[in-house]
Amino acid sequence: MTNTDTADVNSTVAQVAALAQAGSELVRLTVNTPEAAQAVAVIRDQLDGMGIDVPLVGDFHYNGHRLLADYPQCAQALSKYRINPGNVGKGDKHDRQFSWMIEAAIRYDKAVRIGVNWGSLDQELLARLMDQNRRLASPRDIRSVTCEALIGSALDSAARAVAIGLNPDQIILSCKVSAVPDLITVYRELSNRCDYALHLGLTEAGMGLKGTVASTAALAILLQQGIGDTIRVSLTPRPAESRTQEVTVAREILQVLGLRTFTPSVTSCPGCGRTTSTTFQELTERVDQFLRDRMPQWRGQYPGVETLTVAVMGCIVNGPGESKHADIGISLPGTGEALSAPVFVDGQKHTTLRGDTIASELMAIIERYVASRFGPPSTAIHG
Ligand code: SF4
Repeated sequence: MTNTDTADVNSTVAQVAALAQAGSELVRLTVNTPEAAQAVAVIRDQLDGMGIDVPLVGDFHYNGHRLLADYPQCAQALSKYRINPGNVGKGDKHDRQFSWMIEAAIRYDKAVRIGVNWGSLDQELLARLMDQNRRLASPRDIRSVTCEALIGSALDSAARAVAIGLNPDQIILSCKVSAVPDLITVYRELSNRCDYALHLGLTEAGMGLKGTVASTAALAILLQQGIGDTIRVSLTPRPAESRTQEVTVAREILQVLGLRTFTPSVTSCPGCGRTTSTTFQELTERVDQFLRDRMPQWRGQYPGVETLTVAVMGCIVNGPGESKHADIGISLPGTGEALSAPVFVDGQKHTTLRGDTIASELMAIIERYVASRFGPPSTAIHG
């Protein structure tokens, strides 16, 4: 999701482009004012002009019914509307304004994400469930009543959207909370109780390492159980940190779970007392960077290159074994070993590298291997 002012077309286009180039397959924009709504179609046009066709999702709260009605070009330019049932309006206005948004989705043939959030839960629904709970012989704890309110809000809203005429296939549900165990409980229950597509995300996950670990823990468990159709990692960027970090984390989660493959992977050991210099860490970093740098070109040229695996290992203990499991592996010398680094290709010993040119020679081997294995037969270069 962007964090620019949507009304600032240039900044928003630049950030959507960066997110798309980082691998985001859907980008959500805040649509909160008439100026933002007016900008959406211009943003779409500019992205199309740049050859960036990533679908845009409009994030609406409080005034979405008005903005979608007043700015039809915005309603048309978006691919999906995110509607938060807790922020659609109060009392009798709620149902009416929700209906208007669903009718807009039907009119323009758009998907709708009914996105319930712990921080903006429908308070009338929560109060009703709390009241019912108090009257039970054995009342449940507040947390489980709140989880039930989240699920109930999503399912009731989806049923209302279907009753208005929206195709169930156009509905995606999300129920975001900020605690990992609650998120897992809520989504397991949601997936048991409906067949709608589900969008996963730990909301307010936090910054950096903490946010990455928390999101990974939550999403990995659910995805591994087959729950979830779209995901978002919500990270608070550090000042000046790229917004694309959350896309990188999301892709890594999918790749390490074996669900999607985006980029060649580097297997490396952690190092230990057998590694007495930083050569091993430096080589691992260089190989990783080399693969990332080459991918934009390789992706178009060599279909399937994202499945490449490279191992960089610190000594003879696990080095040759792990290297043989990778497409290309190198086992650097540990303390007391001969200063040579055997390289394995497709499980076979390929060559032995020595001296100051190990890094550049290894990268040349990788480059030739990629062309040979993933390139068209006529242009293949064999190493
Ligand atoms: S492969 Fe060697 S250097 Fe790496 S962690 Fe294992 S024992 Fe240590």
